[in-house]
Amino acid sequence: MRRIIICSCLVLAFLTSPIRVFAAPPPDIRVLVINDVPSVTIDGGDSYLRYGSLGARGDNRIGSKAIIRADESGLFINGKPCGNEAVISSSTRNYTVGSKSFFGKLVVIAKPNGKLMVIDHLPLERYLVGIVGSEISPRWPIESIKAQVVAARTYALNKIDSIKKARPDRSYDITSNIYSQVYHGAHVEDPKATEGVDATRGEILYRDGRIFPAFYHSCCGGETEHAHNVWDGELGPPVIKDSFCKRSPKHTWTYSVPVSKFIKVLNKNNIPISNILTVATTSFQDSPRNEHLLVETNEGLKMIPAKDLRKYFGYKEIKSTWFDVKLKQNYLLFDGKGYGHGVGMCQWGAKGMADAGHSYLEILKKYYSDAEVRKAY
Ligand SMILES: [Zn+2]
Repeated sequence: MRRIIICSCLVLAFLTSPIRVFAAPPPDIRVLVINDVPSVTIDGGDSYLRYGSLGARGDNRIGSKAIIRADESGLFINGKPCGNEAVISSSTRNYTVGSKSFFGKLVVIAKPNGKLMVIDHLPLERYLVGIVGSEISPRWPIESIKAQVVAARTYALNKIDSIKKARPDRSYDITSNIYSQVYHGAHVEDPKATEGVDATRGEILYRDGRIFPAFYHSCCGGETEHAHNVWDGELGPPVIKDSFCKRSPKHTWTYSVPVSKFIKVLNKNNIPISNILTVATTSFQDSPRNEHLLVETNEGLKMIPAKDLRKYFGYKEIKSTWFDVKLKQNYLLFDGKGYGHGVGMCQWGAKGMADAGHSYLEILKKYYSDAEVRKAY
């Protein structure tokens, strides 16, 4: 009888979503926020700063401002040598670095090239508040913010876990640029972002019982992309048609580049051409997006991976690999759809769904249809 009662409770638990799976403390995340600069000024504002080494209490008081520079011999704080690594903490845990502000603990590391990097150690939930203001906008509808937070939390936890296993010696879990998740810092925090984080605290997407890299992007342009077309061997969610992102300003786009500049940029990237006779594209078998740009030149036919083209000319210029291209007079004219790699959740589609009255769980179900949301802490 007792056993039956326990089973009933379990069934009830699975009928309510998200399911609580295990009680784990919310982790910290290590975010690379500044990289490859010769010096940095950390301003503690009204509070004083201390420095020490990782794992130890910062016990050296350095005033409210730390000017840290690096050379091949290590770091110098306000002119004094302090080894290869310094952990800066403040009495309020808030800092200003240039136009940005950060929360938590700042770890400054001297690099072998004589420059330095700054890694922000902060609670994951606090990091997610900054993600909303960096990746989308706190002015977006709350259900789209909640969907963004759950996707970003899942992506970050997968990164923390995979870095721990594959690169245990690496001093950070995640970068703060478009190659992972954009994180500008604590100055973009907003009460509505905090509301979205608190309302979904500990909620994570699981696929086959595992946390996975929950990829997302700005606008799919009408159809999401297979992960394997962007990253070799990567498994992503099933692709879907999407009509919810039509109001995105990047749903369609154009880009024109003079042939002379096009040749120059390719040359700079070790593709030696001197002219362009024709241009064409080849698309993936299972996607409307392009695999290659084909350029016929006096030097022969060049096949340039479309995703490399975005890297060469700028991710804001060639916004996606879904484009037509033609040669007109002395220009190459690109006519494209969507913004970003196209895998997983479409942020503008999530906004469109929220505007149409859908909940964040419905949004997540649409873009990650093979996953489920569970509450981990
Ligand atoms: Zn979309």
